[in-house]
Amino acid sequence: GQIIKIEGLKAEIEGKEILKGIDLTVNAGEIHAIMGPNGSGKSTLSSVLAGREEYEVTAGTVDYLGKDLLDLDPEERAWEGLFMAFQYPVEIPGVSNINFLKTALAEKAKYQGKETMAAKDFLKLVKEKSALVELNDKLKNRSVNEGFSGGEKKRNEIFQMAMLEPKLSILDETDSGLDIDALRIVANGVNTLKKDDNATVVITHYQRLLDYIVPDFVHVLYDGRIIKTGDKNLALELEEKGYDWLIKEHA
Ligand code: ADP
Ligand code: MG
Ligand code: MG
Repeated sequence: GQIIKIEGLKAEIEGKEILKGIDLTVNAGEIHAIMGPNGSGKSTLSSVLAGREEYEVTAGTVDYLGKDLLDLDPEERAWEGLFMAFQYPVEIPGVSNINFLKTALAEKAKYQGKETMAAKDFLKLVKEKSALVELNDKLKNRSVNEGFSGGEKKRNEIFQMAMLEPKLSILDETDSGLDIDALRIVANGVNTLKKDDNATVVITHYQRLLDYIVPDFVHVLYDGRIIKTGDKNLALELEEKGYDWLIKEHA
C-alpha cells in the first residue's frame, strides 16, 4: 500500500522559495534515498514534512496514509507513525531516556484510542530494541541526549525509532560527518526495522551510507526539485561522477 504521496510541493522560508515542486510517492516495504548537493533543499523537505513552523507551504499536497499530512500538528504526525530522526535530538535535562519514551508511547496510544502498554511489556520492548543498537543501561537511564557523544546520540535516535515502530521514518543524515560506526548503527537499524508495512526515506549526501543500506529508489534533489530517480546504481554513478553531469543534463 501507499504510505506517502507528495505532489507539487512548494515551500518557502523567509519569502525565499526552497522547494519548487516535489513529487514523491513511497510505498510500504520500500527504502528511498534522497541525495543531492548541499543547499538543494533536502533538510527543508524533511522539516516541512515534520511540520516545522518556519516553513510556509505555498503549493502542493501530501497524502500520508489517507490523511492530509499538512493539516496535522507535528505531534499528530508523530502519533500517526511518522518518525523524523531529528525530532528528538535535543537534550532534555532531568528526563531519563526511558521515561521520555514511556511518555511518548503512552501519548501515542492515547491518541490512537489504545491502551497504554503494560510496564512489563514496555520493559521487554526496551530490552529487545536496545539490543538492536547495543545501547547500554547507563544511556537508557541518563537524561535524554545529555552529554551523549555524536555516536551515542545516533544510537539513541535509532533506539527511539525502534521503540516507536513508525510507519514512515525520515532520517536526515546531515553533513555532520558520521563516522563509520554511526553509519553502521543507522544502517543496521534501518535494515532490521524494514517491514512490509513500513517505509524509510534516508536523506544523505554521502554515498557511503548506501554501502550499508540498499535503497529501492534513489532520488536526486537539486534546486528544490527531484531531477532524477533511479535504483541503487544511481548512487554508485553519483559517487563516481559527482552531480555536475546531472545538473547539466537537467539544465
Ligand atoms: P540541504 O539539506 O540539501 O543541504 P537545505 O534544505 O538545508 O539544503 O537548504 C536549502 C536552501 O534553503 C539553502 O539555500 C539554504 O541556504 C536555505 N535555507 C535553509 N534554511 C534557511 C533559513 N532558516 N533561512 C533562510 N534560508 C534557509
Ligand atoms: Mg546542507
Ligand atoms: Mg541538509
